[in-house]
Amino acid sequence: KFNTDLGQHILKNPLIAQAIVDKANIRPSDTVLEIGPGTGNLTVRILEQARNVVACEVDPKMAAELTKRVQGTPQQKKLEIVMGDFMKHETLPYHDICISNTPYQISSGIVFKLLSLPRPPRVSVLMFQREFAMILTARPGDALYNRLSANVQMWANVKHIMKVGKNNFRPPPKVESSVVRIEVKHPRPNIDFNEWDGLLRFCFNRKNKTLSAVFKNSKVLEILETNYKTFLAVLSAERGGMEVDDKADLSALVKEKVEKVLQETGFGEKRSSKLDQTDFLKLLFAFHQVGIHFA
Ligand code: SAM
Repeated sequence: KFNTDLGQHILKNPLIAQAIVDKANIRPSDTVLEIGPGTGNLTVRILEQARNVVACEVDPKMAAELTKRVQGTPQQKKLEIVMGDFMKHETLPYHDICISNTPYQISSGIVFKLLSLPRPPRVSVLMFQREFAMILTARPGDALYNRLSANVQMWANVKHIMKVGKNNFRPPPKVESSVVRIEVKHPRPNIDFNEWDGLLRFCFNRKNKTLSAVFKNSKVLEILETNYKTFLAVLSAERGGMEVDDKADLSALVKEKVEKVLQETGFGEKRSSKLDQTDFLKLLFAFHQVGIHFA
């Protein structure tokens, strides 16, 4: 009856369903977004606490089942079901909180979609595959620490709140699960997402190599050179078409700038697997100071 291609593993343990909802600290005035409500085991509990719920479900059969479940109850008016693939909705109704036993195939898509909303939810309580949850919460020096960890932790505080064994689901998935609580930082760090992510992409491409080694790579330097040309063009336009010195040997210039930044900041001998958000921010600002960009 369940379509596991759509990640349909229904949470059947009522104590866990209640604990997930309680961990979101819903206020009576809150609108809650639920991604993939399925048959509604979380939804009916959220409806008890929230002002209203927007539930996004891709499977019409599930949506029908959920509709039936609330029909004729006082909660019916508080529930809006939005049909379709969550990842394909360009605009989402405003919501204060997100709760989801997510389809695991779109885990990282969901996290980044939520974090990049103009007004991201105050709190998200999300069920993930255990390893994915461990990556989200990994700290520098942990084996699982990677680009995703560093990226998410730039924008949000992430906490592992509960382990959930596979037998709490029907049908049981192949993997263990964990619930994570994500709270966005306020104010949102004032940096460009693509610049930040661009830097992390390079740095974590080989996270156990020194940054000097990472930035010696000719492909990396080529991209930085292209970005530098764009930077010069923008600069020139801003100065009303005034000449900027773009005739010089740009590839040597970019290489020199990169080496200088790595040397002066002391990050050349460091490895990404050991660096935290503050380190990467310092590095990004130092690169920006000399016109080196990542997006
Ligand atoms: N929330 C329910 C629960 O805890 O019992 C069901 C969880 S089940 C793991 C995931 C649900 O997400 C399924 O109902 C599935 O149809 C739905 N789903 C899968 N991919 C989706 C997508 N891209 N957008 C919205 N819903 C999706």
